[in-house]
Amino acid sequence: MNRGAVNVGADPLAGASAAGATVSPRARRAVPIRLALAAVLLLVLWAYTPPAEPPWRVCGFHWLTGRPCPLCGLTRAMFALAKGHWGEAIGFNVLSPLGLVMLFGLFWDGPVRGRLWTGGIAGFAAYGVVRIFIAGA
Ligand SMILES: [Zn+2]
Repeated sequence: MNRGAVNVGADPLAGASAAGATVSPRARRAVPIRLALAAVLLLVLWAYTPPAEPPWRVCGFHWLTGRPCPLCGLTRAMFALAKGHWGEAIGFNVLSPLGLVMLFGLFWDGPVRGRLWTGGIAGFAAYGVVRIFIAGA
């Protein structure tokens, strides 16, 4: 072990070290703000209901190909999940619960967030292959 080495790659603003031993005071002060922002987001998702069939689609992939991309329906699914309508959300996008966890994971400052997003992106990529080429729905 090299005790004299300086950890040049360490981010002093990160919320926790890789070992999870320390939390900076700045990260600790930000926790109530993060929780408040997450609560506001959840409240907005719960309070508003977008139309089940939007008047126009904003997805360029769907517009070009007529096939749903891995993210199609995710916005409507987020609003449905916030209301507890899991079946409706799954109908919009099968991976919407994962998307909700990833979305609220943005308010978490720690190494888990990176792994969650890496795995989540891989999951959505695999779902995209299935959705575009196999299932088509
Ligand atoms: Zn799409």
